[in-house]
Amino acid sequence: MNIIFLGPPGVGKGTHAKLLGETLGIPQISTGDMLRAHIKGQTALGKAAKHHIDAGELVPDEVVIGMVRERLAEADCENGFILDGFPRTIPQAEALGTITQIDAVINLVAGNEVILSRLTGRRVCKDCGATYHISRLHGKTTCEACTGPLIQRVDDQEHTILNRLKVYEAQTAPLIAYYRGIGLLHDISAVDGIEADHQQIK
Ligand code: ADP
Ligand code: ZN
Repeated sequence: MNIIFLGPPGVGKGTHAKLLGETLGIPQISTGDMLRAHIKGQTALGKAAKHHIDAGELVPDEVVIGMVRERLAEADCENGFILDGFPRTIPQAEALGTITQIDAVINLVAGNEVILSRLTGRRVCKDCGATYHISRLHGKTTCEACTGPLIQRVDDQEHTILNRLKVYEAQTAPLIAYYRGIGLLHDISAVDGIEADHQQIK
């Protein structure tokens, strides 16, 4: 199965894409994680992407399309994949359509308050990228998986979050109608807890 996860920042795409990937035994491909790895590794792509990401803007289409095209050509994608954070614009969706065929688009839905609280409360491990929410950390400041320090992403600070939500509405939300129109969209309410939501997605 070739699957796309759609939804606003903070709705839980990463969490659910990872879980479903483990369940189905196919890779979860997060363009946000890939871009952050490029920034950490100080590659040319990372240098070009950094100021867009820190400002809560999208990285230019041609940059992410090229990156995804290469990733989907790797051997582990042969039996399917889950895209998390791509496509984010109509031109990206059109380019994807020329690269491969998509079987299902999962549209995660939650209200604005839920999304804001998930984003402002999100902490990530500086070393391995694992994500946590402060409500479940009980004051802990290190990663359960690797003991790395937990930090707040620059783009998870409140003024940048508001810009990301605006960018989502303007550039990414039109994908809902696009994929509904070609009969691929499945709406899933993402507010009943991770396990219950995962069952719905399955
Ligand atoms: P979230 O889903 O919480 O917004 P991501 O990790 O998916 O976080 O994305 C972080 C940032 O990376 C985005 O705000 C954007 O700048 C950049 N990015 C990720 N995927 C794409 C994409 N498909 N197109 C353009 N920019 C992207
Ligand atoms: Zn870690």
